[in-house]
Amino acid sequence: MILEYVWLDGYTPEPNLRSKIKVKAKDEKPFALHMDAPAWSFDGSSTRQAEGKSSDCILEPVSEYKGFNGINKIVFSQVKNPDNTPHISNYRQHCKPKEQNEWWFCFEQEYFLYEKDRPLGWPYRGYPKPQGEYYCGVGPDCVAGRKVAEEHLHTCLNAGIDIRGINAEVALGQWEYQCFGKGLKAADDLWVSRYILQKVAERYNVKVVWDPKPIAGDWNGSGLHLNFSNKQMRDIGGKDYINHLCESLKNDHNPIKVASDYGSDNDLRLTGLHETQSIDSFSYGEYDRGASIRIPIATIDSGYRGRLEDRRPASNADPYRVLSYLLSSIE
Ligand code: MG
Repeated sequence: MILEYVWLDGYTPEPNLRSKIKVKAKDEKPFALHMDAPAWSFDGSSTRQAEGKSSDCILEPVSEYKGFNGINKIVFSQVKNPDNTPHISNYRQHCKPKEQNEWWFCFEQEYFLYEKDRPLGWPYRGYPKPQGEYYCGVGPDCVAGRKVAEEHLHTCLNAGIDIRGINAEVALGQWEYQCFGKGLKAADDLWVSRYILQKVAERYNVKVVWDPKPIAGDWNGSGLHLNFSNKQMRDIGGKDYINHLCESLKNDHNPIKVASDYGSDNDLRLTGLHETQSIDSFSYGEYDRGASIRIPIATIDSGYRGRLEDRRPASNADPYRVLSYLLSSIE
């Protein structure tokens, strides 16, 4: 069986994804009963996770996905020290949605595709026509990179990741997909979906750019809008409860954390323009895309039952840190 292990390295402010392949021997024991993959190790001195003198780090499998291109399974793993304690770079260890609250999350992952040093579809010199016709557009003047976005969609669905949709975004060469999951697995799935996107992009010789504001000026940045709900929001809801949650988030809004836990350079994106609220302010509003927290129309129409959308996270954010900060404000 061919297993592709995927993990997060020790780079800061955001980690990179790493992978290596193991051909599993017949007598190797899996890490857990419901898995195929055994625990494994890697050279942490090459990923900023260990010194050369004692460089082994442990890969502890946390979730498995169907592989592609001849790989049987993708094995997403968290990094541990040789003594089996969580590695300092492992933010997953701090992310613990309370199970009784039954949290559901849907990340709206935006990204740019680049060819060499410029967004896909952009002219060699200068700029394409201004924003306006690109969002959900069609035709070679209005979209670039559709093959990558669609192949990524199919590959993720086949892997067992619950992608709920994709669309061309507001800037040329910019795309979005929506990735749904429950509890901590939502963040695991988002990391694996990012891995798959980069591997698909390799096939087309294009680069995925996760920066929240890759192009200065009148061009949209990329976010990681987070739709979230717990059992009480879905089953009972009510205007008072929804407003109470929004007030809790307001009281805990911290521009420094929003520029770190919610993605580095997020301050360049959250300017108050381009469908964002300024990082120094906090607001919530009914179907307001210029707010920090949007109360979607579907939630209002259901009698204030359903989800909220946190529009602050940036495209490059580590979802474990996003969920940790969000839940520390409201759980
Ligand atoms: Mg979007």
